[in-house]
This record gives sequence, structure tokens and C-alpha cells, in this order.
Amino acid sequence: MTSEKVDCLIIGSGPAGYTAAIYASRAGLNPVLYQGAQPGGQLTITTEVDNYPGYPDGITGPEMMINFEKQAKRFGADIRYGMATAVDFTSYPRKVIIDGQKEILADAVIISTGASAKWLGLEDEERLNGHGVSACAVCDGFFFRNQDVVVVGAGDTAAEEASYLAKLCRKVYLVVRRDEMRASKIMQKRLETLPNIEILWNTETVKLNGEEGLESVLVKNNKTGEETLLDVTGFFVAIGHKPNTDIFKGYIDMDETGYIKTVKGSAHTNVSGVFACGDAQDNVYRQAITAAGTGCMAALDAERFLMEREVEIIADDILETN
Ligand code: NDP
Repeated sequence: MTSEKVDCLIIGSGPAGYTAAIYASRAGLNPVLYQGAQPGGQLTITTEVDNYPGYPDGITGPEMMINFEKQAKRFGADIRYGMATAVDFTSYPRKVIIDGQKEILADAVIISTGASAKWLGLEDEERLNGHGVSACAVCDGFFFRNQDVVVVGAGDTAAEEASYLAKLCRKVYLVVRRDEMRASKIMQKRLETLPNIEILWNTETVKLNGEEGLESVLVKNNKTGEETLLDVTGFFVAIGHKPNTDIFKGYIDMDETGYIKTVKGSAHTNVSGVFACGDAQDNVYRQAITAAGTGCMAALDAERFLMEREVEIIADDILETN
């Protein structure tokens, strides 16, 4: 296995990772960024991004991520294809294995591996993604103004997505697989106040129909077996997200669902020299702009950490030579 020593390693290439790369390269940390399995992250599977400040006419997700990458490269960030497949944070410098075949030793590691939306696994879900199928109402809801849509799920995310869409859409069908919702009582109460939300209890999705874009959704009541065709153009899957943090398990403090815990108001994890930003540590906001903001925090925290370490090493050298 080959080995390489770097000052600052960034794992992941969404808005958090690229922003960390921009700040870290401008601070002279010579960051090396590995892009992971989906260069550009979740934004590359959305269409228009209309809510990121600075783009008055909007921009597509993939184009935005190309711009982020270009900007990071302009300041000298070393952007590489490759996936972090294992880590060892028990020693210092911190060790990260890339593609199972290369060892990177890093003085500072910034984790920006993001999260992935969970999908239902329906036959045409992937094909229609970005053409009616979405996992983010805040990102894509605007395109379904005055149209009828479905939201699938029964947790707080589904309740929040349905409430958000109810303000924009003509009708929102909330498809719930059991006869009760897991969402908090207050969120459920809010749903009751919105007249254009219809909850379909004990209901599962059978099929998505449409060639160029979604045209209808076939659902089935799992108690009665009755099938219903819903004429909708939008289908929002809100059955949870999974942070891409499996390889860090056992090394870093996480909550029970795998979101990395950071020290409040910072990007510090419980492991010195390891920082986390973006959706890998955020299960509340999950927006491109908040991910970018925490990416900036991670780079600034890493810069301070490395500077303090350097000062300590110089002080130790002075003590030794004296
Ligand atoms: P949850 O895991 O809480 O809920 C997922 C929901 O999706 C469940 O109701 C589950 O149904 C349903 N589901 C799972 N798989 C399927 C499937 N194959 N078909 C149909 N339905 C399915 O995820 P959330 O994203 O809603 O929430 C994650 C965390 O984030 C929670 O702790 C939540 O409280 C928090 N959160 C807080 C918010 C806030 O406070 N503003 C907003 C959003 C999230 P079932 O119940 O039958 O298992």
C-alpha cells in the first residue's frame, strides 16, 4: 500500500467539502480533497437550485457544484477522484485509506461525506428522479406550484415537507403506511390545520407512471387491498436520510442514527484534528447554504488547530535546545 503525508485532508465533495477546500487552500493548508462516490454530492441529483443566495436567476445543482470545484481549484486545492474506505483515528497523524489501496496520513481531517436520502426502491423512482420525483421539498417544491403532489413518509420530515408543499401546491396526498404517524404531535396538529392535505392511511405506493415526467401514482390500501390512481406530477419521498458515516463508526462520537456529533458552535469532533461539516453532522437544516457555512467553519477550525500545533512544536523545540 502506498502512503502519502498531507497537511489537510477533506473527505467528500458537496458544498461543505468544496467550501472547506476554498478556505483551507486560501489559508495555505494545501488541502487534498477526495470526491467520493458521487462527485458534487446530493446537489448533482437535483435540478434547479433557486434558494442559494447570489444566483438571482437560479442555477442547476450540477452546474453549481462544477463552479464550487473550479473555485476550490483556483486557489490550488488538490481535488482527486477516490473514496475513503477506512480510517484509523487512534494514532496521529490521522490515517485514512483511499479505495482500499492508498494510505493518507493527515495532520487535519475534514469530514464532509454528506448524507443520502432513503428511497423506496420502486421500479421507476430513479428514472423519474428530477422529473417529478424528489427527496427535498425545499429544493424542488417551487416547480410544483398549483399542482397536485404526493409525499411519502410519516416522520417529522414527511410532516414538514407536506406542510411546506401545502403552501405551494393545490393538493398534497400524504401516503402513510401504517394507521398512525411517527411525527411529533405538534407537527401532526399542524397538518390538520391545512385543508389541502389529505392523509392516506395504511397506504403504500405500488407504481410511478410517466415517460418524460411523472403523470400519476398508483397506491394501494394494505388493509383493504383497494388500489387508487392519483393524478399527481410530484412525488416526494420523505422516509429519512442516512448520513454517510459508516467508516467512522467506533472512532468518532455519533448520535444513534449516525450523525457525527460536533462541539456546539464549531466543527470540532471528539477526536482532535478531525472536523465534521455539512449533512454528515446535520439532520435538521440539510441545505446547501448551511452545508457551505459549516464547511467554512471546519476549514477555519482546522487552520487554528494546525497553527496551535505548530506553535507547540516550536515551543517544544526551543525547550529542548535550551
Ligand atoms: P424518521 O426515521 O423519523 O421517519 C421515517 C418515516 O418514514 C417513518 O414514519 C417510517 O414509517 C417511514 N418509512 C420508512 N420506510 C418507509 C417505506 N419503505 N415506505 C413508507 N414509509 C416508510 O425520519 P425523518 O427524516 O422523518 O426524521 C429523522 C429525524 O430528524 C427524527 O429524529 C426527526 O424528529 C428529526 N427531524 C426533526 C425536524 C424538526 O424538528 N423540525 C424536522 C425533520 C426531522 P414507520 O413510522 O411506519 O416506520
